[in-house]
Amino acid sequence: MRPMLKLQGIAVSAGVTIGEALVLDSEGFRIPRRFVERSAVDTELKRLANAVAETAREIERNRDSIHAELGGQYAAIFDAHLAMLHDERLQAELVSAVRDRNWWPEYAVSRTLRRYAKVFQNLDNHISQRAHDIYDIEKSLLRNLLGQRRETLAAISQPVIVLAHNLTPSETANLDRRFVQGFATELGGPGSHTAIVAEGLEIPAVVGLGPFLADVSGGEPVILDGNQGLVILQPDEETIAHYRLEVEAARTEAVKLDRLRDLPAETLDGVRVQLTGNIEFPSEVEQCLSRGCDGIGLYRTEFLYLTSRREPTEEDHFAAYVEVVQAMLGKPVVIRTLDLGADKMRTETTSEEERNPCLGLRSIRLSLRQLPMFRTQLRAILRASALGDVRVLFPLVSTIVELRQARMVLADVMEDLAEHGIAFNRSMPVGMMVETPAAVVLLDKFIKEVDFISVGTNDLIQYTLAVDRGNKEVAGLYNACDPAVLRLLRRSLDVAREAGVPANVCGQMSGSVMYTQLLLGLGLRQLSVPAIAIPEVKQVCRSVSVAECRGIAERALEMDGAGEVKAFLREQLRRLLSAQTVA
Ligand code: PEP
Ligand code: MG
Repeated sequence: MRPMLKLQGIAVSAGVTIGEALVLDSEGFRIPRRFVERSAVDTELKRLANAVAETAREIERNRDSIHAELGGQYAAIFDAHLAMLHDERLQAELVSAVRDRNWWPEYAVSRTLRRYAKVFQNLDNHISQRAHDIYDIEKSLLRNLLGQRRETLAAISQPVIVLAHNLTPSETANLDRRFVQGFATELGGPGSHTAIVAEGLEIPAVVGLGPFLADVSGGEPVILDGNQGLVILQPDEETIAHYRLEVEAARTEAVKLDRLRDLPAETLDGVRVQLTGNIEFPSEVEQCLSRGCDGIGLYRTEFLYLTSRREPTEEDHFAAYVEVVQAMLGKPVVIRTLDLGADKMRTETTSEEERNPCLGLRSIRLSLRQLPMFRTQLRAILRASALGDVRVLFPLVSTIVELRQARMVLADVMEDLAEHGIAFNRSMPVGMMVETPAAVVLLDKFIKEVDFISVGTNDLIQYTLAVDRGNKEVAGLYNACDPAVLRLLRRSLDVAREAGVPANVCGQMSGSVMYTQLLLGLGLRQLSVPAIAIPEVKQVCRSVSVAECRGIAERALEMDGAGEVKAFLREQLRRLLSAQTVA
């Protein structure tokens, strides 16, 4: 019995779940723990032998071509691979795993070779590099066993916790919530769109764990704690029992918070806060409504692209928007135009020219480059504006020219619709995301040309602190508490207030109760948050006074570092919650 292993990663989507692992290695193979019928053992052993023979042929081919190009010295690497593959002890273990333990050959290969690799990995010298050779052999054997077939995530049909090297936002968006109880990845950072989608789908998730897939096999029990960012492999009975209680407690708490559904987000001193939901898919509207939202403050429409194999038509856009608008029964719906690019790409390949995709052709820049696509979307948004309180929002505006160009395209599309007698709201409010330091610095200019602003703190943090929001290596620097971020937030809200223009914060920050008092104190009166966060944020709004919040914001703004601010805000929240418990 292997010992329990507790891994610390980055908590990105709350919730605790206990289930069976489905391991997707970096090549995307699914290796579940499966057993072979006794009657099929001979056939499966033959399949294993064929895969070994084919892998040996591949290695020989590689050896011969390297020999021809670079000479015998380099070709010797492949001789070493061959020796490992044919190692008598390894072969005997594989055969015994299938014959005596009735393991599926794929499972036998994965389990056995990973165990060998682990032994090398744990050596503290240059020999540890040999682990990579063993992984190579494992991959080659698996490829040959599976006949190159990569079962996709879409084929998941029973409850599992997905453990992967990485998941792209579009892979995440396509996960089937009925079966995927949670996921954990070796890569990924706190503000990545994979994380955001997980929260939208309400799938508990932990990212940025570093290498751990070698320690786990498909079918093994796993605990995923999305609140603390923990993944527990080979959990013991006591730990499982503890987490079962936690799952139960979370259910009870959710039922309690449910009572707030029809109550307003109003502070103790009578200030009404608009609490709206962030969605990626129309289906999430139900989750927002059932928790008592005041509208949709951010609809990330790019997921229409990321979940479809073809370019969405105007009717695809329109159908999605109508679904949201009609469900909201007159409450506001802020539709953000496509924010594709950076980590939200339809393919995983990055073109040569996009070496720095976060600073590249993304968001409004991409829409302005691809006018037919942009116009199609704007037509659909405008048509939907005839059916409810629709507002349009442009992402990542960084210059006034972009804003004006986007507005010009919008005006042009309006003329088109008017000419054809198609109904739309000519006064549909137009807003911009404030996501770059440039937008904040120049906000006094921008503000004269928009009807509302929405501060995207996920990107604002990334661009202010020069920290990739999706990179675990710099996750410690990605911090909403950084005084530089707080100052930009304060300026954004001050400029908007002075101009009498409504301001919203729709980054993940507004969905965390740690920041609610700070944000209210900075003057924010509209928060747009993931559906799952609505009850808790509402509860905090209803438990504080704006006067107190102002004091908290002022003190936070005087501090020098993110650590100090974070500790202070944590303490304020702790006090608030413990006062509630006592009351
Ligand atoms: C943000 O950047 O804060 C935001 C809300 O947009 P996204 O997370 O989609 O980039
Ligand atoms: Mg953004």
